Amino acid sequence: MAYDSNNIFAKILRGEIPCDKIYEDEHVLAFNDIRPQAKAHALVIPKGPYVCSQDFAEKASDAEIGAFTRAVAKVAKQLGIAESGYRVISNSGPNSHQEVPHYHVHILGGQPMGKMVH
Ligand code: IMP
Repeated sequence: MAYDSNNIFAKILRGEIPCDKIYEDEHVLAFNDIRPQAKAHALVIPKGPYVCSQDFAEKASDAEIGAFTRAVAKVAKQLGIAESGYRVISNSGPNSHQEVPHYHVHILGGQPMGKMVH
């Protein structure tokens, strides 16, 4: 799938749209979700142009993937939910109802998240 640079997260990365920033480094940006679905709801995105989880895992460098994984833990600490626990979710592709075609994970916590239904 080709990357569409008009997506909203690309605009946030270019500074064209503001975000409630939590964390940033060379490879990663994290900010609060605009429509939170839990007391804590952050989004972590790579700065590179990856559409979805599959695209990111197949094309990103080890440095980008490493920074991304570490950023999730840093964001959880910054939100104060590293100890209480949290859920990390990524919608990837049409069947998942991924809305924004720039790879991201949701970090949800700050409350009991309930058991996942399979
Ligand atoms: P998806 O369904 O996994 O693609 O989730 C996209 C998420 O992006 C949703 O939870 C939206 O609330 C969130 N979102 C959309 N636009 C913005 C924004 O401008 N700032 C922060 N979050 C956003």
